[in-house]
Amino acid sequence: MWIILPVKDLRRSKTRLARWLSPRQRSDLMRAMVEDVLEELARASKVSGVLVVSTDRSLHKIADQYGARSTAFDDDRSLNQAVGAACEQLARQGQTSCMIVHGDMPFLSGERIDRLIAQASRNQTILVPCKDRQGTNLLVLTLPAKFPFQYGRDSFRRHLQAARAAGLDPQIEADPDLALDVNGPACLAELRSRLTAGNGQQCARTFGFLQGLSLLQPHPHSRDRTGTPRSLGDEDALALSLETDTSTLMRRAAQIRDTHHGNLISYSRKVFIPLTRLCRDVCHYCTFATRPSNLKSPYLSVDEVLEIARAGSRQGCKEALFTLGEKPELRYRDAREALEAMGFGSTLKYVAHAAKAVHDDTGLLPHINAGCMTPDEIKMLRPVSASMGLMLESSSHRLCEKGMAHHGSPDKDPQKRLETIASAGELRVPFTSGILIGIGETRYERVEALLALRRLHRAHGHLQEIIIQNFRAKPGTKLAGADEPDLADLQWTIAVARLIFGPEMSIQAPPNLSPRAVPALIGAGINDWGGVSPVTPDFVNPEAPWPPIQQLSQQAAEAGKYLQQRLTVYPAYMRRHDQWIDPNMRAGIFRLADAEGYARQQDWYPGLSGAFPRATFEHAAKTRTGPPVSKSIRELLARLEAGGGGEIGETEIVELFRARGADFGAVCRAADRLRDRIKGGRVTYVVNRNINYTNICYFKCQFCAFSKGKRNEGLRGSPYNLSLDEIGLRTHEAWLRGATEVCLQGGIHPDFTGQTYVDICQAVRTAAPDIHIHAFSPLEVWQGAKTSGLSLERYLGRLKDVGLNTLPGTAAEILDDEVRASLCPDKINTDQWLEVMGTAHGLGLKTTATIMFGHIDRYHHWARHLLRIRHLQENTGGFTEFVPLPFVAQEAPMFLKGKSRRGPTSREAVLMHAIARLVLHPLISNIQVSWVKMGPEGASACLQAGANDLGGTLMNESITRAAGGAHGQQLSAHEMDNLIRQIGRQPVQRTTLYGIPSPRNGDQRALDAPLSVGAI
Ligand code: SF4
Repeated sequence: MWIILPVKDLRRSKTRLARWLSPRQRSDLMRAMVEDVLEELARASKVSGVLVVSTDRSLHKIADQYGARSTAFDDDRSLNQAVGAACEQLARQGQTSCMIVHGDMPFLSGERIDRLIAQASRNQTILVPCKDRQGTNLLVLTLPAKFPFQYGRDSFRRHLQAARAAGLDPQIEADPDLALDVNGPACLAELRSRLTAGNGQQCARTFGFLQGLSLLQPHPHSRDRTGTPRSLGDEDALALSLETDTSTLMRRAAQIRDTHHGNLISYSRKVFIPLTRLCRDVCHYCTFATRPSNLKSPYLSVDEVLEIARAGSRQGCKEALFTLGEKPELRYRDAREALEAMGFGSTLKYVAHAAKAVHDDTGLLPHINAGCMTPDEIKMLRPVSASMGLMLESSSHRLCEKGMAHHGSPDKDPQKRLETIASAGELRVPFTSGILIGIGETRYERVEALLALRRLHRAHGHLQEIIIQNFRAKPGTKLAGADEPDLADLQWTIAVARLIFGPEMSIQAPPNLSPRAVPALIGAGINDWGGVSPVTPDFVNPEAPWPPIQQLSQQAAEAGKYLQQRLTVYPAYMRRHDQWIDPNMRAGIFRLADAEGYARQQDWYPGLSGAFPRATFEHAAKTRTGPPVSKSIRELLARLEAGGGGEIGETEIVELFRARGADFGAVCRAADRLRDRIKGGRVTYVVNRNINYTNICYFKCQFCAFSKGKRNEGLRGSPYNLSLDEIGLRTHEAWLRGATEVCLQGGIHPDFTGQTYVDICQAVRTAAPDIHIHAFSPLEVWQGAKTSGLSLERYLGRLKDVGLNTLPGTAAEILDDEVRASLCPDKINTDQWLEVMGTAHGLGLKTTATIMFGHIDRYHHWARHLLRIRHLQENTGGFTEFVPLPFVAQEAPMFLKGKSRRGPTSREAVLMHAIARLVLHPLISNIQVSWVKMGPEGASACLQAGANDLGGTLMNESITRAAGGAHGQQLSAHEMDNLIRQIGRQPVQRTTLYGIPSPRNGDQRALDAPLSVGAI
């Protein structure tokens, strides 16, 4: 049979690739493909002759080289007409059939041609459509032709219709190899991938061209305002597999990473628990899996598991990673018998038992990597794990073929693994997956695997991290002699993964598998190191020890990053715990998390006596060396120091609260500079006495450990209600001891009315006519007004008339109703709190403002709170000071029920003071630190980060104490002086309104005298 090979002018071919290839490249590609086709046609035994039809004279010479004839046609005659003329010519020569073949069919082999010619003898008309069934790649016609050859759009449909109209019954040959079109970058990438997988045995010229190919515009995709690519379509992502400019990819990837992860590189401090090293699979690179005869026992016992977990807990680990072989009981009798002896029907049932034991005993959060699972198995493990994972490794079925890495491993079937990952998404499990590179896959297949994962993530939103793991050749395995991917290849893959998944996804590479390349991997776009253990080795790669965390931290700093410990659950999933975390695991996660969702790194909790991590704080706050401060933080701080707090919005304040490492230090230093500029070296405090007249309260604030119902005697402290006489006595004693102020607040006793607060004021005023009465939270004022039937203005006016001087700004908690709805649902809402304060300010009653933070709130709530305080102050000027009150969790009901965090971390607590200084400047000039919550050392740290006031001596602090506070009920004036002098500042006693107290109150002995009335 004769073959007709129509080819356009090489310079005008492949125009659909014009975005990516230059005219020269397109011409070279087409020439290479035509030559490869000619070579195959020359190999076919059933081909009588080949006729090349083209206007391009250079092709005629090439045709000669392969023994083909050629015919030219004029430019003004269409290619279809020229082919028609060629058919007629062959018919005139006595040919009864011919085959029209495209010049760009890379997988057209001599054998296939012969097979098609043999088929044509049975059915004279054959049609081979292209992949999308739009075009015709190959056509066998009888001669003289009963219908014309028609190149161009929709040619397959037109050929089919024309053939049927001519009474023919064409055979449609849907051969995927012959259907391959080369019309876009993804096709080029797929072609190179397939040719690479075949070691370039086929299409030598096309393969040679593709190997050296560099695309003109490798990333045609949307860009953000900085010009950074954001999200790639599948076609463009597949085209990336052709990209050879790794440096450019890395630069783009790192830019994208920084838009979301900023200066953070995270890691999870964990223990690895190799529950069993038996596995039914036989991956050709694995040394983790072994035979029963090599093991003392098929499974670790629960005691052995707990021993590992406890060692990790002592070292600050937060995660227990269960890593094990796949369903060994299906392969080994030893495994079946061991499970039976322990009373478990499957390995996964034992995993569930061991994970629960670890969490219950140590609080570590289990992360389970147990291989392929059914939905029921995932459901079983969800209540005992915070997250799960399964490496996809590769989506290429080719790797399961004989001689490839996954041959003989039933669980490495990509379809099966993708099904498990999809099920985890449907069951709302925060999930880890990733790819293993260098096990025989091509770059195109890597991209295909990443896209498969992206499709699942887009459907379910559950992939919290993508691991890019590099294969390591291990002695004793079938792949012992295989080449390991080099650093450039790993960097290329990380960068491509970042470009595919975008800024938010966590892209991870294990640091122990590239020990000398830590900065290089950061440069490629990772934001996470995965699990690093100070206790256990990486059992899967035992030859690769974990780098010390201190070393990782230093290397991160050298790359301009801050190493932050995270939990196995990423912050985004922890924040949406109601959807993503099983109720059984939530309390454990809250205990370990900060407000952003990262791990608490220090064992300091507000109100408790544990040492404040002063060294860490001072290093961060004072050290000017190390990684650079982020540009956005630098710019923000410059604006704030210049008094631009009014222009700062919620997003920017949140960014300040996220500051870690060098950024954290910079925020603290800026706040300290501002404090110094406004307040100099003076640190003020007031000598006062707290009188909490009752702890009986009918409100149900979820954080409050102070309030008692009338019958709650069993709780810490008994219900009490002080008489007016007792209040008077305590006031009188306070006055004698030099107090300038009494601070009066209490629970909302069901019997209290507006008159009660009037009576309290009068009792205090009678006992000490000149003492400053600082009393009644906005909630009490609201209740007082309501029960009196008076407006807020009239009721506050009445309190003022009987001696009230100022109001404490408590009951604010978080001024955001989203939080208040859970935190204190029956309390006054945000607007009501602000209304009380605004009304008081209007009457000339100054107030303080507080924030009680670190429970269920997040940074954007803190930001809103600060902005609301700032806004009211702009209107009234009535706040004298801002007092951050870190949540003391120890005895708080919501913490005991597992529904809140354990208060702010030391970083967050210090930051709140610093950011308040910056954001409220110049409207509120006094930032007070609560020594009761922060402890003396924490208070010192805050005084060096923007705070200028140490609050009151208190004498009878009882609210924090009820919540589990351990810093005592009072700090004498003498102790306050010492604390302030220790940081090189000058102690100054003040009045409530920041005036100078009269000399009467300067008797130090009186201030330090022990209490005789009301000492609890
Ligand atoms: S915070 Fe105040 S109002 Fe709320 S329960 Fe405690 S004492 Fe009552």
